[in-house]
Amino acid sequence: MFISHARLAAATLLTMISVVSSGCLTSSTRTVVEAPVESPIDINTSAVVVDLAQPDLVIHYDPHLRSRVLMKYNNLEPCQKRSREEDVRGLVAGGSFITYGQVRYELLNVHYHTPSEHTVDDESTEMEVHLVHQSSMGDYLALAVHLTVSSTPVPSEHDRLLTSTPPTETCPPEVPQMSVRRDIALRELLPANLTAFRYLGSLTTRLCGAYLRPVQWIVFKERMTIQASTHAAYSAIWPEPHFPHGNSKPVTVAKPDIREK
Ligand SMILES: [Zn+2]
Repeated sequence: MFISHARLAAATLLTMISVVSSGCLTSSTRTVVEAPVESPIDINTSAVVVDLAQPDLVIHYDPHLRSRVLMKYNNLEPCQKRSREEDVRGLVAGGSFITYGQVRYELLNVHYHTPSEHTVDDESTEMEVHLVHQSSMGDYLALAVHLTVSSTPVPSEHDRLLTSTPPTETCPPEVPQMSVRRDIALRELLPANLTAFRYLGSLTTRLCGAYLRPVQWIVFKERMTIQASTHAAYSAIWPEPHFPHGNSKPVTVAKPDIREK
């Protein structure tokens, strides 16, 4: 379980906190660890250490299953109060999971940021997708893929998913509009090569007012593509000048230990 990893030894312990049905933390039954590093970060590749002793990552999404994905506009604030912490996300039915070491993490949602949140050697890409997973102990693991605009006429699985997004002219709606895709191959949302940068960080959107829930980040080295029209439509939901950084959180100055496997 990553939360007990030695690198978290210096983390701040928030004592006696419990999780209520909303997922928010209130008083008194559980010890919660606060993330030592606030995400996202710049990945300085000259400082990355190749470490084959890192836990094995195994994707257990059924390669033959075409999944039903419920797409919804997601915002934390009332509709009149826009924020960069909005996104359009796909909610996935249970049963899609990964294992990291000996721990099983269920896929919770797939969501997109534009521009990318993580940078690599100070360079961003047009978009970044996060596939958020959670263990039975409540620990988070996020898979991240950088997406670049491609001129290929063949839509990627990311294009197919995002073509079902709600109409932006009604955004932000009082009640989130939803649409369903029934034929998404979840494995095709991830690159073929699973070599990745790994570090312990945090959420990049607030959960119950705080970023600092620990997250095991796995940022794949291989990039994937998205069509220009998909990128343009998604970016238009967060127009300038009100959203100078789209729906992405800028990198922090943190320089955590980053391992590659
Ligand atoms: Zn995210």
